[in-house]
Amino acid sequence: MKIERTAIGPFGTNCYLLSADGNADCAVVDAPPGAASLLLPVLKKRGLRLAAILLTHGHWDHNGGVAGLLAGTRDTQDSPPEVFAHVADLDCHEHPEKFMAWYKAAVPDLGDDDFPAFKVSRWLADGETFPLLGKTWTAFHVPGHCPGSLVYYCEDEKKAWTGDAVFAGSIGRTDLPGGDFSTLERAIREKVYTLPEDVALFPGHGPATSVGEEKSSNPFVRP
Ligand SMILES: [Zn+2]
Ligand SMILES: [Zn+2]
Repeated sequence: MKIERTAIGPFGTNCYLLSADGNADCAVVDAPPGAASLLLPVLKKRGLRLAAILLTHGHWDHNGGVAGLLAGTRDTQDSPPEVFAHVADLDCHEHPEKFMAWYKAAVPDLGDDDFPAFKVSRWLADGETFPLLGKTWTAFHVPGHCPGSLVYYCEDEKKAWTGDAVFAGSIGRTDLPGGDFSTLERAIREKVYTLPEDVALFPGHGPATSVGEEKSSNPFVRP
């Protein structure tokens, strides 16, 4: 599997483009604002079909580009990309206007049009598996930064996408609405630190790390 990372938007949010040799399908993990204008030309040039958008959680810096990707693939694909998320973040995805005041306080130059709603096509439960790019994936519910935070684990590849739950040497903020430190700490211990130590972790911000690295040195959550 080929992984390409781009950091986009005011918070440098990671957008991962996943593809596989000999496969016309690709997928993205998170779609920050601006993802469509950046990715659609790349997909077109390579003849890739966007099969799925894997959302790690509902914060605007991770889902603000979903509507643009759906609109941009509407005429070029025979079927729309699947959009995966956890139902605890339903309002963040389908009613983002509810959070407008909060985001505008953080990023003052945002306008009303910067909050396009979209429909999630599949709500994933903790431990649920799904096929993608010829591999089997498992979603783990890892709340505490956001109520609907998911970690996407591809066991065949020994890789996991952690969103804003775990970063290299850090963890996600727990002072935002719906956040809770002890919930996040427990979720990381039970769902992330129980993965094999050589599993690579791809966070929502910053560089990649591994389960072993975080278990041995993450100062915020000890195993
Ligand atoms: Zn977040
Ligand atoms: Zn984020």
